[in-house]
Amino acid sequence: MKYFSTRGKVSNISFKDAVMMGLAEDGGLLLPQYFPKIDVETLRGKNYQEIAYEVLKEYADDIDREDFKKLLSKSYQAFDTDNIVPLADIKECFLAELFHGPTLAFKDIALQFLGNLFEYILAERSDSVNIIGATSGDTGSAAIYGVRGKKNVNIAILYPNKRVSSVQEMQMTSVMDDNVLTLAVKGTFDDCQNLVKSYFNDANFKKQYKLGAVNSINWARIMAQIVYYFYAYLQLPKAQKVNFVVPTGNFGNIFAGYAAYRMGLPINKLVLATNENDILHRFISKGDYSLADVKATYSPSMDIQVASNLERYLYFLFKENGAKVSDAVNELKNTGKISFSNEEISEVQTLFMSYGVTNKATEETIKRIYDKSSYVIDPHTACAVEACHKLGLNHDNTIVMSTAHPAKFPDVVKKSLGIDVKEPDSIIKMRSLTTKTEVIENDSSMVKERLKQFFS
Ligand SMILES: *Cc1c(COP(=O)(O)O)cnc(C)c1O
Repeated sequence: MKYFSTRGKVSNISFKDAVMMGLAEDGGLLLPQYFPKIDVETLRGKNYQEIAYEVLKEYADDIDREDFKKLLSKSYQAFDTDNIVPLADIKECFLAELFHGPTLAFKDIALQFLGNLFEYILAERSDSVNIIGATSGDTGSAAIYGVRGKKNVNIAILYPNKRVSSVQEMQMTSVMDDNVLTLAVKGTFDDCQNLVKSYFNDANFKKQYKLGAVNSINWARIMAQIVYYFYAYLQLPKAQKVNFVVPTGNFGNIFAGYAAYRMGLPINKLVLATNENDILHRFISKGDYSLADVKATYSPSMDIQVASNLERYLYFLFKENGAKVSDAVNELKNTGKISFSNEEISEVQTLFMSYGVTNKATEETIKRIYDKSSYVIDPHTACAVEACHKLGLNHDNTIVMSTAHPAKFPDVVKKSLGIDVKEPDSIIKMRSLTTKTEVIENDSSMVKERLKQFFS
């Protein structure tokens, strides 16, 4: 399998190179040349790791087959259930529980795998990488857990001091491996992100210190997420065309659903749920992709402005025309919006539906589901459950992607239900661990010096 860029100027990239490259050199995102066809019925009876192998083998065909199997089984060892992604019935719909990894959010599914993949490729190439990332919470902890203790990889995560939840901070700072550094920057998440961007734009620094990234534009992350669409489908009591409802931020998770659809999984609708940051809902429902200010909501991992992975879908919507994708990206940069024709909007709506959920509705949904099913959902999942409810989707063939464990967002759950969430063992254990972090000024050269020292 070869990979090419959505903007059409990079092609013929191997899987291993695609993993190490992240963003394509023309600024676009990498896509596989084709989507391998899979008959889902041939996967019945296999476990998660075996299904992962069957679904992904053609995408990663430059990795030795036995090694690839080993990489996959290693990637799901730290999960707290053998089932990896269990399906729960909450009466209004089914929930695919994607939060059984070490940091209790769905990002573990891809980042546990990506960490192993990095280690494997770097060993083969006798190379090393220094990862820098900015986080508002979930990505940082999942990335740290993905690479902790791995050879030839260091990771430095910048987060806004006093502005991430206490559980999220503890998940990042209780990791004692020497290859992990956390910096609590005296500023906002945007400040952290700007610092990281400036270091990637510093060509000398980037080259000398072999900087790498693990954000959701990496194809390997999307790819790993395709697996659970197949796996969740296979757990339905009755095989039939299915709706997937996905709490969406950067369009990464739902793009994996689109890839599953292109691979032949019997999908009826892909339903995108947003919070009050509803740019993607406006896009799907009426073709309005115009930027607005980012609001802080109860579901912070979906508080986004530009959905970076949408570009992958636009490539197909624009009939595989890379120049048209480049034009759209420029239009967004220059005018704050992307325009679509009526034909394009109809095309989007043949497969996608969407709904935007307010903070108030998020709270009410957490309460309704608890009263009805004695099941506690987190605020991100609640947006998707509410979308399912409001759009009138059937219980029997609708699966909501449950992206986080409610214990990660105890304040909203307490506000909705008046009770504390029962904490899973992993959090209880974490509370007795020592933590390390460094508070640092929001000062580019100070942070840079600290990074240089750590990477040397
Ligand atoms: C990252 C995240 C999302 C958004 O996922 P995308 O792939 O960016 O659409 C949703 N829910 C939770 C809990 C997350 O951590």
